[in-house]
Amino acid sequence: MVIFVTQDPECLFCKIISGAIPVDFVFQSQSVVAFNDINPQAPTHVLIIPTIHVENIADLAQISPEVTAELFTIARGIAAERGLVGYRSILNTGADAGQSVFHAHLHLIGGRSLAWPPG
Ligand code: AMP
Ligand code: ZN
Repeated sequence: MVIFVTQDPECLFCKIISGAIPVDFVFQSQSVVAFNDINPQAPTHVLIIPTIHVENIADLAQISPEVTAELFTIARGIAAERGLVGYRSILNTGADAGQSVFHAHLHLIGGRSLAWPPG
């Protein structure tokens, strides 16, 4: 039987979810929370994360397509609330792609024009 660990006491984002590290939540439900990135790259830079500890978005998609879809639904809602006409959803997967926190998260970035391709 495979057992999924739902929280990792060493994980920064699990500490945010548990309240051990305080942040201002932009959105909170049982399965997903969102909060502002501490080092914003644009006027809107929100991190949208599952409340279960899963290393990256690829693993989350395997474990729960429903929660994976929810990340995008919440991104759309926050973008609409803020009147963003366009925004970028970024899912860094693995250190080579720039992932530094190994708890799945979607970066919602907008509020300025964004260059392509990204670095
Ligand atoms: P990534 O590099 O894709 O793993 O993204 C991790 C993000 O977490 C970075 O954009 C960091 O700025 C952000 N971050 C790190 N610590 C915190 C914190 N305490 N509160 C909010 N965002 C954070
Ligand atoms: Zn975690």
